[in-house]
Amino acid sequence: VADTYDIIIRNALVVDGTGSPGRPADVGIRDDTIAAVGTVQGDAGHTLDATGLVLAPGFIDIHTHSDRTLVIDPGCDGALAQGVTTHVIGNCGSSPVPAIDDYAEEEDAFFARYDIKRTWSTMAEYLRAIDERGVGLNVVALAGHGAIRRAAMGGSHMRPPDARELTAMRRHIADSLDAGAIGMSTGLIYPPSSYADTEELVEISKEMGQADRIYATHMRDEGLGLLDSVNEAIEIGRRSGSRVQIAHHKASDPRAWGLVNESLALIDQANADGLEIDFDQYPYRATSNGLASLLPAWVHEGGNKAILARVRDRQQRARMVDEILSREGPRAGITWDDVLVADCRGDRTADGKTIAQLARERKMDPVDVLMDLLDKSDGIVAGIYFSLSEDDIVTVMQHPGMIVGSDSSARVIGGKTHEGKPHPRGYGTFPRILGEYVRDRGVLTLEDAVRKMTSRPAEKLRLDDRGTIDVGKRADIVLFNPATVRETATFQEPHAYPEGIPTVIVNGRLAFLNGERQDTLAGRVLRA
Ligand SMILES: [Zn+2]
Repeated sequence: VADTYDIIIRNALVVDGTGSPGRPADVGIRDDTIAAVGTVQGDAGHTLDATGLVLAPGFIDIHTHSDRTLVIDPGCDGALAQGVTTHVIGNCGSSPVPAIDDYAEEEDAFFARYDIKRTWSTMAEYLRAIDERGVGLNVVALAGHGAIRRAAMGGSHMRPPDARELTAMRRHIADSLDAGAIGMSTGLIYPPSSYADTEELVEISKEMGQADRIYATHMRDEGLGLLDSVNEAIEIGRRSGSRVQIAHHKASDPRAWGLVNESLALIDQANADGLEIDFDQYPYRATSNGLASLLPAWVHEGGNKAILARVRDRQQRARMVDEILSREGPRAGITWDDVLVADCRGDRTADGKTIAQLARERKMDPVDVLMDLLDKSDGIVAGIYFSLSEDDIVTVMQHPGMIVGSDSSARVIGGKTHEGKPHPRGYGTFPRILGEYVRDRGVLTLEDAVRKMTSRPAEKLRLDDRGTIDVGKRADIVLFNPATVRETATFQEPHAYPEGIPTVIVNGRLAFLNGERQDTLAGRVLRA
């Protein structure tokens, strides 16, 4: 009796995610599971010929910010089009829950712009809402320390917590972990996370230590203080017992270029000492975060509403301008030519231009352009900063421990999230590595690049049933053409899907077939 499958993929070059050399094989899928690998006989609902294509496990993006975009545009096409079938959300200290008091108001204001009514306040409610609404890819959640700190400390959160508040933070974290979050993230350059000292972070990370979960961190300083920051992350892992994930590892200040050689050595030593310290990377010279991050720290007390009020207050604005002008550039080591406006809702003519360019066009001082854009967009403007070294990117990429993470959000071309000119990494991270860094420059072998996109993150996240091509694993699968795969997104025109990735399968269901998005929301929340 011939076996029957839902999908058989024939004549693929299987790159299985372990790093082993690719080998020709067929793959049979039944329901949401890989049911056969090798020479597969039998019938199937769909039989796909993959001659000339690589078949790999669906890519796992260990570092994203899709928390809100996957609510707005659940399809997540911009991630699926890259072959990505799982997103880890809640990074850099930022998550939409817990949403309490003024933080809940900020979330409501954000979602109202997309005609969405927030129905969740806790991690459990939020993850349930994702499952109920449907989602195009699998979702693993981190709880953001920023939201947790605000929930525990209220409006006045730019100070150390007292004992009662520290206990409240631990309770919020424990609730999030109970709801299935894989861990907690910090964004130690962003208020209010930036006001947490090492002791606070050790104390609250004991929740992750007890539950064998992850402490993920956007570190305190990725410039001249890079090594101190890595040492702090290692110390938090050692003293709390949590498994550490260092976000988007890089030296983001030109004066600190090259320090990644030493930071990677610190990480290697910590792992040799028995800790679990990992890191991720995106393959671009430019970083991205809100332009408000260029404002002095005191401006951030009280959140968005308070920032905006200060920008609109003549005296306080003058004080900010003075403080920014006293720096050498917008921030250490870069100039206003290195700062690109990515998403300015209140002035779409600014998107895709540098602050220096806008200053020339508008015959204004760059710092006044900055203030003007923040004022017009209610304080929320995304920016892009060209501040990394290509040599460092290659150094970090070639480290055997590297895990790929886009640091971006899943968007949908033609959807509500098709707005502004966001960093192209949201559409291009995975094809860029496979095209430019593997095929064109030989920085990585194909097998090693796939390993860093699949089994490495699956190991880190303890996703035991994903990340390799084996019988019994969940059928998250990508087919791509190694000769043609490439990123097409650019900084000027970022909303563009890559080429050479025709077919993507999520939990056994076709998400892309021969380059066409299928009508599926086949993702699931993967609870720890
Ligand atoms: Zn970050």
